[in-house]
Amino acid sequence: MRRKPALLVDHTKLRYNMNTVVHWCDQAGIEVAGVIKCPTGLASVARDYEACGARMIASSRLEQLARAKAAGVELPMLMIRVPMLSEIADMVEICEYSLQSEYTTLKATDEAAIRADKVHNVILMADLGDLREGYFDKDELVAVAKYVEDVLSGLQLVGIGTNLGCYGSVVPTREKMEQLVEYAEAIEKKIGRELQIISGGATSSLMPVFDKEMPARVNMLRIGAAVFAGPLEDLRVNYGRKEMDILHDDVFTLEAEVIEVKTKPSHPIGKLGVDAFGQRPHYVDRGNRRRALLAIGRADYGDIDDIIPQLEGAKVVGASGDHTILDIEDCAERLRVGDIVKFKLRYSAIMHLTASENVFTYDI
Ligand SMILES: *Cc1c(COP(=O)(O)O)cnc(C)c1O
Repeated sequence: MRRKPALLVDHTKLRYNMNTVVHWCDQAGIEVAGVIKCPTGLASVARDYEACGARMIASSRLEQLARAKAAGVELPMLMIRVPMLSEIADMVEICEYSLQSEYTTLKATDEAAIRADKVHNVILMADLGDLREGYFDKDELVAVAKYVEDVLSGLQLVGIGTNLGCYGSVVPTREKMEQLVEYAEAIEKKIGRELQIISGGATSSLMPVFDKEMPARVNMLRIGAAVFAGPLEDLRVNYGRKEMDILHDDVFTLEAEVIEVKTKPSHPIGKLGVDAFGQRPHYVDRGNRRRALLAIGRADYGDIDDIIPQLEGAKVVGASGDHTILDIEDCAERLRVGDIVKFKLRYSAIMHLTASENVFTYDI
């Protein structure tokens, strides 16, 4: 018997997704950095990436990369959140690569690498308009690259990268990718050699790959969302693209247990104030409805829109921190106390559930 709530990880489906993404990228001359931050750095997921041909393991959290390394994953580790000054010493121990965007941080990384008798590989980030991390000014980017190349002996400048679609929801068009290559070439002209890596973004940058519009020189993508929640996320949702429909959208399944089944009115009774989260939700009066109460809540998965019940006719109507209310009036199946309801999960729910100490993770 699995303890509940249970989070099931189907590694056969996950590896199928990873193999598919690696194959798409490979055909375009692109290597995959496997991003593990969505499932909170599960080491088994890092092992799957390694088995499926990813060239690096990437995360925004050092602890996750350290865990993957401790679990025996031998791929180089890439820190994809621009590092904090306070974690630089740990970073050069754990990671062979990092994305960088500040002179001060580069200097600190250089010093830490020299102290540790290592050479740390850096990918400078260019901000092409999404307005999160990276050098916005091309001349500044080129000047910093030149400085890293000539002065910082503890660092190896391996390439440049960009991130799109995270803050500014900017789409990775061919033009944006060409601009990134142009920046790389400006650096190459300045330092007099070729850069090894041009890292063109995340799952959303699969779009120019599908369209065969990716410039040949873009040779790395940092992929997470596609392999974990594929068709539920990103390209499917944002751009209406169908290519990812061949991926599994049930790599992760949540099992929650029914703790109460009753028929109750659908509109609360009494003078209404605010709910458990200080909100004033709108309640539709649909008369008396049969509903099941589940022993899982927003403390575990975040937002009710991110969990999708796999029970014909069931609908999540609300939740507090530790309870979820499921309308089951229209279900043919009769639910009873002790029964299990399964859910598909969007990216954000996978992220929360894998980080929750109340949720038990099982590899299947
Ligand atoms: C999260 C992240 C990625 C991976 O994004 P997905 O949409 O999950 O593929 C890539 N690069 C950076 C810098 C990130 O923060």
